[in-house]
Amino acid sequence: MPNKKKKLDYEPHRSAEKAQACHVPGCNEAGLYKAPKSNGDLNSYCWFCLEHIRERNQRWDYFAGMDRDEIEQFLKDAVTGHRPTWTRETQVSTQYKKLQDALYEFLNMGAKRPQKQHPELPAKLRKALATMDMDYPYSMDGLKGKYRVLVKKHHPDVNRGNKQSEELFKQITSSYHYLMEYLKTSASAAS
Ligand SMILES: [Zn+2]
Repeated sequence: MPNKKKKLDYEPHRSAEKAQACHVPGCNEAGLYKAPKSNGDLNSYCWFCLEHIRERNQRWDYFAGMDRDEIEQFLKDAVTGHRPTWTRETQVSTQYKKLQDALYEFLNMGAKRPQKQHPELPAKLRKALATMDMDYPYSMDGLKGKYRVLVKKHHPDVNRGNKQSEELFKQITSSYHYLMEYLKTSASAAS
């Protein structure tokens, strides 16, 4: 039996003086707890605050029935977009894709998912989509929903004094307006 996961004690892995910030974007807590990077690189580590290491480990629990190799394979599938042969039926495969996306997000703690490539789209549009962590094509509802989530997460009131968040917040807002305009323009052009 492979060692599925180590039981986590919540003793800090390093002292507060040496700590860098928590790995989760927007979190300003000290990263006192280490965990392996999940995306195929189990030999290097990220540092998390207590709250986020707990959250992360609960997410690993989601895979209680799988061993490390299976999880890695699952993530690889999510990244490359390959579907296992048993998901031929469209609906199943759509559900499966959604599940993969959710799991990918789980394990990467909000890190950006790889984007579908659309080289035919304007560069500005692609950049805006990447900022919003969205794929093309997108819907107005999808855009609004995503915007609400991101604004909540990166609002300057929540991340006081964090320059990076402030900059990101600006980018998100301008990307949102751009994508909204683009949608309206292309809709009226099509009709
Ligand atoms: Zn944190």
